[in-house]
Amino acid sequence: MQTSNFASGLWTDTAGPAPEAPPLDGARQADVVVVGGGYTGLSAALHLAQEGTDVVLLEAETPGFGASGRNNGQVIPAYTRHNPDDVVREYGSEQGERLNRWVAASADLVFDLIRHHGIECDAAQQGWLQPAHAESRLGGLRAKHDQWAARGAPVEMVDRDTMAGLTGSPVYHGGWMHRSGGHIQPLGYARGLAHAAIAAGASVHCRTPALELRREGDRWRVLTPRGSVDADTVLLATNAYTDALWPGLARSIVPVRSFHIATAPLSANVAATVLPDNHGFSDTRQALWAFRKDRDNRLVTTCMPFTPFSARRTLRRSTLARLRQAYPQIPETAFDYVWDGKVAMTTDRLPRYHELAPGVHAGLGYSGRGIAIGTAMGRFLAERALGQHGTETPVPQTPLRTLPLHDLVVPLSRMLVLYYRWRDARA
Ligand SMILES: Cc1cc2nc3c(=O)[nH]c(=O)nc-3n(C[C@H](O)[C@H](O)[C@H](O)COP(=O)(O)OP(=O)(O)OC[C@H]3O[C@@H](n4cnc5c(N)ncnc54)[C@H](O)[C@@H]3O)c2cc1C
Repeated sequence: MQTSNFASGLWTDTAGPAPEAPPLDGARQADVVVVGGGYTGLSAALHLAQEGTDVVLLEAETPGFGASGRNNGQVIPAYTRHNPDDVVREYGSEQGERLNRWVAASADLVFDLIRHHGIECDAAQQGWLQPAHAESRLGGLRAKHDQWAARGAPVEMVDRDTMAGLTGSPVYHGGWMHRSGGHIQPLGYARGLAHAAIAAGASVHCRTPALELRREGDRWRVLTPRGSVDADTVLLATNAYTDALWPGLARSIVPVRSFHIATAPLSANVAATVLPDNHGFSDTRQALWAFRKDRDNRLVTTCMPFTPFSARRTLRRSTLARLRQAYPQIPETAFDYVWDGKVAMTTDRLPRYHELAPGVHAGLGYSGRGIAIGTAMGRFLAERALGQHGTETPVPQTPLRTLPLHDLVVPLSRMLVLYYRWRDARA
């Protein structure tokens, strides 16, 4: 079993090659500089380059090094916690419905980009499922379904038998499906976006951390180990991997360490009974149960250990227990890969957009929904850099707020796992 604290060994072993993107060497002028080479930054660079903008992207490691190369690959055009009506209550009807429309369209954006640019990432727009792990959770899913359906989203309720057929698991009580969702090979998608951005004219530099950001006359200068970029606009797309580049930005979100584990390939007979139509799903548990198969029929699932210590042993044990419950037809199985990554959570689980200073924009905090929403955020940041939207932004522009006692919040967030397990069991 391979344990990695780098991007997932599974996804690196099965993704297409990373593009050539040499470190920045020397001083460079540009219209826009993007910091961070995950979905947000790469989507921003791609959309800017397509408009003929001179854009430079700086990535400290390689494209997809952060959460974009480590996630479960589920493309989900819906909020983590909120329903559309909650968002309207929170932001008012105009702003709330703008955000609802933007989120609803985010999965189609991902799959359209994949088709348009011929990105090879095992994309399956099969629909995303959310099964209820307890009967008491069905009412909440019905409300979610009804509110998205009222806004024209392609959603449907799924009864118990149908859900058993789609998941291949006998334990669920029904649920809902969002037809525009699906799943991808996450690192393949990030690398594909990088290739597309470079082909469109973006300059992408890997192994180039942005070390300092300062005002030089009426432009911004980003300093790197062996060079600098001067630009009118800076887009910060560093999410849970945010460092000290912009004061306070890292302390505005909670970076939660999340683990993944992949079984050895299931035999053809067993694989035909597990997610037989190649769906992916995250159920209603707060302690995160998400499953999908990769192209070789490995079952890839999330795990939230209480502590990261001796994670390998703990994860194996807890995943076996989970498989016994959800997929009793899977025999005792080996696990091929374990890895982890940081998810950028916000306190209310809604994404954040900030204009930190004139010409400096940041988008982050997708709370586990960043494949679709991060890609949409990247396009939106590009539109901001091009001067679009005025005050009518799809994502509300909010001031940067650092979380009080941030140093305590991060370890305390681990304690929440126990609370979540208790609530899940109680449901
Ligand atoms: C284990 C796990 C499972 C997940 N599962 C799902 C899922 O199934 N579905 C879903 O929608 N979302 C999921 N997510 C969330 C999703 O992966 C993220 O929201 C998304 O990838 C964020 O993309 P991003 O581009 O904003 O950030 P990232 O992909 O994290 O990229 C940020 C990049 O910024 C770079 N960087 C940081 N500082 C600097 C600097 N100073 N200079 C240069 N570069 C810098 C980092 O190296 C990093 O590559 C999951 C996340 C994790 C960790």
